[in-house]
Amino acid sequence: MQEPQVNHRSLAGGVVLTTVTGQSAGPTLALLGGVHGDEDEGVLAVRLVLSELRGLPLRGTVRAVAVANPPAWDAHSRTSPLDGGNLARSFPGDPADGPTAAIAAAVTAEVIEGSDALVDLHSAGIRYRMPLLAGYCADGPAGAASERLAVAFGAPVVWRHPASAPGRSLSVAAQAGIPAIYAECSGGGSIRAHELDTYVAGVLRVLAELGMLPSSGDRPAPPRWVHGQGDLDTGAAAGGHGFFVSSVRAGDVVRRGEEIGRFHDHDGESAHPVVAPGDGMVMFLRRQARTATEDVLFVLAGLDGREEAGA
Ligand SMILES: [Zn+2]
Repeated sequence: MQEPQVNHRSLAGGVVLTTVTGQSAGPTLALLGGVHGDEDEGVLAVRLVLSELRGLPLRGTVRAVAVANPPAWDAHSRTSPLDGGNLARSFPGDPADGPTAAIAAAVTAEVIEGSDALVDLHSAGIRYRMPLLAGYCADGPAGAASERLAVAFGAPVVWRHPASAPGRSLSVAAQAGIPAIYAECSGGGSIRAHELDTYVAGVLRVLAELGMLPSSGDRPAPPRWVHGQGDLDTGAAAGGHGFFVSSVRAGDVVRRGEEIGRFHDHDGESAHPVVAPGDGMVMFLRRQARTATEDVLFVLAGLDGREEAGA
């Protein structure tokens, strides 16, 4: 077997695009890590996938960017220190609108557009905890194909979003009719072996689903399904300064009124329970105790009927 051809090319903002071309023609997968600079899991997973591909009979092309936001990565920060930009809210970008928008524009034009599928590997980052999951947007012509890829990825939870929110890599893909998924896991600045292994195996399973690699026959267990708009922009804010003390874990299923945590004022003089506004799965859970008024404490996702029936 001849090895796939590997090329590296520099894009705007220090982004390095690695293109792996298989021996036979086939689909193109766009693969992103490090869209947020405090999320190491996706960066390492992309590099490990590239290394795995050297020995595999690839059909088609993989366009991979391990570190999609190099200034944020260098600063270990979710956002760019150059302009405060959040790359995951900056797509499709504009080359003339500052460093983060320029990176978004380059990744849109050179990586996402013209591909047949997108996988964007995130994690909860420094400030939150999240369950290991694959997410996708159900709207648009690529919704059903995105769902198939999310299931193929093999994470224990699949999060279905009714519509793509603006500024995301997934919204650019949805607009172009390209099936797209993202992945999340616990974060916190450390990497857990089983999450990293799921990311690497998950991307290889997506490649197999697309017919770009032979199927390994490895079938992940059926996922738990959750739904909702849910991202940090829609979460429950602290509403005051103090300490957040969590009572549940990311991925726990909570019922309406159940305690998610407690909020103590800075002096320890008063505390109030933070409760679930409805039934759901805890998708984001604030990791850091010291909390300002606008900080989001948690985000719940709705439980699917199939989840309720199986629980
Ligand atoms: Zn992220």
